[in-house]
This record gives sequence, structure tokens and C-alpha cells, in this order.
Amino acid sequence: MVSIQNLHKQFGALKVLNGLELDIMEKGIIAVLGPNGSGKTTLIKSLLGMVVPDKGEISIAGSNIRKRWNYRQEIDYLPQIANFPGNLKVQELITMIKDLRGKPAREKELIEYFRLQPFLDKKLNKLSGGTQQKVNLVLCFMFDSQLVILDEPTSGLDPVALLQLRNLLQEEKEKGKTILITSHIMNFVEEVADRIVFLLEGKIYFDGTVSEIKSSTGQPDFEHAIAKLL
Ligand code: ATP
Repeated sequence: MVSIQNLHKQFGALKVLNGLELDIMEKGIIAVLGPNGSGKTTLIKSLLGMVVPDKGEISIAGSNIRKRWNYRQEIDYLPQIANFPGNLKVQELITMIKDLRGKPAREKELIEYFRLQPFLDKKLNKLSGGTQQKVNLVLCFMFDSQLVILDEPTSGLDPVALLQLRNLLQEEKEKGKTILITSHIMNFVEEVADRIVFLLEGKIYFDGTVSEIKSSTGQPDFEHAIAKLL
């Protein structure tokens, strides 16, 4: 589905991506982990064309992203920080994004799923962080793209909402989607991810399943296993 070869990105003297290689499968949930500042968001933004790499190639579904001017329309993306105008009402925002994309959307089903009906007429800046995140998740899943990228989707969510997100990710995966997530909540990652890639010093330091990480570190607890990777 996605192939990344020899990706390099430097900000000033700081080498963030340093020859990163990654192939992402069709269908499944891949978690990109790594310490703060290890380059997870930079990798995601490179995939989305929001960061221009210094070197390297990225292909999606077999063609180089530089040659597919409209490929971004095929990816749904939840940014780490969504900067929508706070004075927009939830319904206005959803309608605006639908109009901009010009694609059929299944927002009603997702609004119901996250129980957002009471908030549709409220301004974004009057919502709690967790409710805003649920709105962002509706925007992210309503177009049913094959590739979904979620940068810290767990942030601000309470335990019930985390469970809703977990179930939603499983359902979306069953439809055949490819979902890439980052998260610092290790028990969430352990529950949802089919594959973990761990970034360190601008490269993939570990690539495997949860049980492979546990057995290679000799730690039965996932959070401890991740800590022991370093
Ligand atoms: P976190 O877990 O904290 O979200 P991350 O792994 O997603 O971190 P990035 O956001 O990709 O890390 O940042 C990697 C490094 O690159 C950081 O040191 C960051 O300050 C730096 N960086 C990112 N974007 C820029 C930019 N536009 N200009 C300068 N430095 C940047």
C-alpha cells in the first residue's frame, strides 16, 4: 500500500529522518512509536506531502506521490493538533469539510456512534478537549478512505471514548482499510496494533508484532518491553 525508501529530513542541524525505510501492508493497523521528537509526526507529514523530504521516495498504491497531485484526497488524516476556527459550530464544520472534499460522507452514523448530537449546535471553542477529539474523529472517518492516518487519536479521550475508538478501528480494519496510528498510550496500542514500528535516530529501530517485542525483550508487559527496547 505504502512504500518509503531512504527517507531523509533535516531541520537546520537536526537530522530527524535518516534513511528511513518502511513498507506498509494493505489492511491492518500499524502503530508508529518512538520517544518524543523521534520523528513520528515528520514521517506522517512527509506521507501527506506537508513536509518535503530532503531525499528519498514515497509511493502509495504503486505510484510516487510526487506524480500523483490528488493523492492526498485518498487519505484521511487526524492531525496531532487540529486548528479549526473555534467560532464554527460542529455542524457547520462538518458541512464545510464535506463541501470542500465534495465526496459522499457517512457523518450521521459517526455522530451517533460518538453521541455527538447534543453538540452539533455548539461552537468548537466551547467543547471539552475530548469532545473536540471525537468531532475530529468523525471528520477523519466519514469519507471512508482506504488509508487513514491518526496522529495521537487517543489524546483527550476518556476510557469510554477510548473503547469506542478501539472498536471503531477494529471495524474499519475489517473493511480492509490501512490505518497508521501514533499514540503514547501503550495499552491502547497493544490492544489495536497488528504491527509496531519503533523509530529511533531517524530510522526504524524495531519492526514487529506486540508479542515479538515482548519475546525479544523478555518482558511480558508491553509497556516495559517498549521501555526495554531503548
Ligand atoms: P512527539 O512524540 O513529541 O509528538 P514526534 O516523534 O512526533 O514527537 P516530530 O514532531 O516529528 O516528533 O519532531 C521531530 C523533531 O523535529 C523535534 O525535535 C521537532 O522539534 C523537530 N521539528 C519538527 N518540525 C519542525 C520544523 N518545522 N522546524 C524545525 N524543527 C522541527
